[in-house]
Amino acid sequence: MPEKTEDHYPSHCERCGSALELWFPHEGASAHLVLDLERQAAGVRVACVKHRYFAVTCACGPKTIARPLTGAVSIIEGRKDQLRPSEASLVGPGLTTFIAALSVRYRMSRAKIAEFLSSWLDVRLSIGVIDRCIREAGLACEPIVDGLIDELRAAGVIHADETPRPQQGYKLRWLWVALSSTTAIYRINSRHAETIRDLIGDAFIGVLVSDGYGAYRTYPRRQRCVAHLIRKGIALIDGYQYERIWLGEWLVREMRALIHTVSENRASDTAAPPGSARYSPASSGPASSTRTPTQKRPGLWRAKSSMTGTPSPPLSTTQTYPQPTMMRKPHCAMRS
Ligand SMILES: [Zn+2]
Repeated sequence: MPEKTEDHYPSHCERCGSALELWFPHEGASAHLVLDLERQAAGVRVACVKHRYFAVTCACGPKTIARPLTGAVSIIEGRKDQLRPSEASLVGPGLTTFIAALSVRYRMSRAKIAEFLSSWLDVRLSIGVIDRCIREAGLACEPIVDGLIDELRAAGVIHADETPRPQQGYKLRWLWVALSSTTAIYRINSRHAETIRDLIGDAFIGVLVSDGYGAYRTYPRRQRCVAHLIRKGIALIDGYQYERIWLGEWLVREMRALIHTVSENRASDTAAPPGSARYSPASSGPASSTRTPTQKRPGLWRAKSSMTGTPSPPLSTTQTYPQPTMMRKPHCAMRS
């Protein structure tokens, strides 16, 4: 049952534009109930308000009808009923925001939210109504997301990644993330390159840090993610080819030295101007080393030998090994 009633009248005549006064003839046109949060001295409660909309007859003749306002339509491919937020909704804006916070911030399922609202606020909502509230809150936040995208594109360095996101009833989608030092934006879409281009834009002139997926490769200033480089190096070390093990060890050593140096600089020199790189490589590259992998890692080849059945450590880079074991690990390293 409603605890109070709010009436809504049209302010001006639709035909002549003159102001409609309270004493003009009027009649009820529509009404609906709204559940919304209400602040209390200690905490919140849910109040039920009846909203009545009236039709007013102008002196010029026709009736002008007050109607609940509606928002922009959200069109999503494959959805039967497209989402259009309206004031004529059972759940008001305060309770809608609360439900969205329970879902997004506190990671509660729709069913858990329904149970929570019933147990603690004595409000019984269906899963469908709760789902609609969450989608409406997302739609209302779109202008904020547009502002965040502008902030992201103004950053000097953007990190990006994507991961599969199965969704019941839909074909496989991908969860993308693009972040700067102050902004993180998530988007669920296909794995096409257009998704990352929509987020970052074609005019981005900073550095994009990513893995090796092809969608990122159209950006000319791209830094391969250091964690991925270290992973590649470790995979190379686990392989069975002389040059690749050598390259993998050098790569891992250099990347870890880079991380260590950057970390030390951050801790010890906060006054250094931005971009003043103080990293000096631990060695100038694979060709500068004069030691062989066997000398640097005496136990490595023995371990591989016992695992693969190779009788003795390789002393020559031209020595051949069975193709399946030799190619498997390096191939994994090249993949990501
Ligand atoms: Zn009129």
